[in-house]
Amino acid sequence: MTLQLMANSKTTMKTAKRTMLTFNRIRPWSPEWNRLGEATQEVLLGFLQEAPVKISRICNALSIKVVAAPLPARISGEIRYNPEDESFKIKVNRYESSNRQRFSAAHELAHYLLHRDLIIKEGSIVDNVLFRSNVSNMVEAQANRLAADLLMPIHLLREYINAHEANQNDDTFIVEMAQDFGVSEMALRFRLGI
Ligand SMILES: [Zn+2]
Repeated sequence: MTLQLMANSKTTMKTAKRTMLTFNRIRPWSPEWNRLGEATQEVLLGFLQEAPVKISRICNALSIKVVAAPLPARISGEIRYNPEDESFKIKVNRYESSNRQRFSAAHELAHYLLHRDLIIKEGSIVDNVLFRSNVSNMVEAQANRLAADLLMPIHLLREYINAHEANQNDDTFIVEMAQDFGVSEMALRFRLGI
């Protein structure tokens, strides 16, 4: 390797290291995403091209109805199966914040993508504010991980971080990034591992 090349790669490493210092804990796609299968991933990726990701558009494409409904307090969302026409319907609690409703919709969509048989068997999955429900905590954790992937896909996070590299150390960076992704600051911090 020539000296010039070495100098270049050193500079690159330095830049990369600085970015990674702040964002070295972003996990890639979840195991739940990885097991969706290529055909489903391809359909989903078509909708994961810009932030904020439009969860309702994905649901429309999959013929799942999504409504913001006056659900009881402490219930964030539900997905219900109608055996008569074999359809699925998601309700999110309209009394909760819009970011929260987006997360709930993504969480219920994740149940549809991962746990369709279980929804059909149980008739519905009803999630409280902690995303605990009539099904196991393991199933809930799976839905949360896939929901985070859908709302904050790895490639969009990286793109955003690279595009805003200069502002990365500003106090407001995470707040603005959360706004741009339509998620809570807490959800974003969790996703970024910071
Ligand atoms: Zn759930």
